Parts: sequence; C-alpha cells; structure tokens
Amino acid sequence: MQKPHILIVEDEEVTRFNLRNLFEAEGYQVSEATDGESMEKQLQQNAINLVIMDINLPGKNGLLLARELTDNRELGLIFLTGRDSDIDKILGLEIGADDYLTKPFNPRELTIRARNILSRISQTKSDSDKAVITFNQWVLDGNSRKMTSPEGGVVAIPRGEYRALRLLIENAGQIVTRQQLIKEMTGRDLRSNDRTVDVTIRRLRKHFESIEGATEMINTIHGEGYRFIGSVD
Ligand code: CA
Repeated sequence: MQKPHILIVEDEEVTRFNLRNLFEAEGYQVSEATDGESMEKQLQQNAINLVIMDINLPGKNGLLLARELTDNRELGLIFLTGRDSDIDKILGLEIGADDYLTKPFNPRELTIRARNILSRISQTKSDSDKAVITFNQWVLDGNSRKMTSPEGGVVAIPRGEYRALRLLIENAGQIVTRQQLIKEMTGRDLRSNDRTVDVTIRRLRKHFESIEGATEMINTIHGEGYRFIGSVD
C-alpha cells in the first residue's frame, strides 16, 4: 500500500521542519507549502491525502484557503491554531475541517489525529457509507455527500456532518452520545470543552431549518447527546 501523503501548510520554518520530521518518522510521505499559492501547486502535483494547515499564513489565511479545498472530497484537513477564538470559525467552515489542534500541541496527539482522519477517509470509500437514505422527504446521498431538501434544494455537506447525521439516522429514536458522535466523526475521544459535536449539530439543524415550516429533526438530550426524531423511509 502506498504511504499516505501529507501536505504541511505553515510559514514558520521551524514548525514546518518539525512537522516534516515528525510525520516522516511515522512513515508518511510529506510535502510542504508556505502559503496558498504553494499549497495549490503541491495539490496539483501530488495526490495529497491530508492537509495540516496553520491558520496564520501570509496572504490568504488558512480559513480562506480551506474554502478552496471543497472540491477535493477525499482530502482530510486538520487545522493548527494559536487562538481558541478560531475554533468556532474552523468548525463553521463549509468544508468542515476534520479536526483541529491549538498550539502548542503535543506531537503524539497530532500524529494520532492524523492517523484517525486518514482511516476515516479510507472508510468513507466503503460501500455502506455510500447509501442513499431518505427521511421526512429529504434525501441524503452518501455517494456525493449531498442532501436534497423536500423543495429540491441541494446542499453539499462536509464529511464530519455527513457522518454525524448518518449515525443519528441509523439510531433514529435513540440517544446518541456526544462521545459516540465525535468518535464517528474524527475517530478520537471527546475532550473537555470540546464544541465539535455541538457546532456540527447546529450546522445540520441550519440545513433543515432552511425549509419553511421545517419540523425539528434533532433533539438535544441535555448532558447526554442528541436524538434523531425524523421519520426514516
Ligand atoms: Ca504561521
């Protein structure tokens, strides 16, 4: 099997150098970029599986660059940020970053996250993940990862949102814990003050609420998790 290829997008030379060493020691193929332009070049020249991107870059910052990655569906994305305040922005992106770490981070933690995301991406290619599910006249297509509303509007949903929604639907009527959801989305465990799941649910609800007279489909079960209450066909 070919080694997964990681692209590090970071303008700080020392950090970039350390990240390269870290991932090469783990057996990955590693490429580097320092800004949006060189990132684009690397993406065109190499079959990149995972991008690890610092938010603070010269020129376009990482948040803007992430929007340009949306076409590449099988690409994982982990953000590095120095500020907690960036986290909601990261999670709110259309692309739905797969995960994030705040600096200074533990190198082991980063390699574990990277491995989890890469395994999530390869699993997404499996057949069961590509099912077409219909509920309350919505159609969720796992092949294209697009959702069609009862009115015919089509919305592309990021991998994390897709996986969370699928898990909720598969367990319709039952409580799915935040831990189960984060595990399904990122392969990792829930951390303290982890807003990833809640932001993801908020985004899913927003899709549903875009339809006039929408019925609530995801219940919050305080202190436990969420429950899908739509009717699955
Ligand atoms: Ca930087």
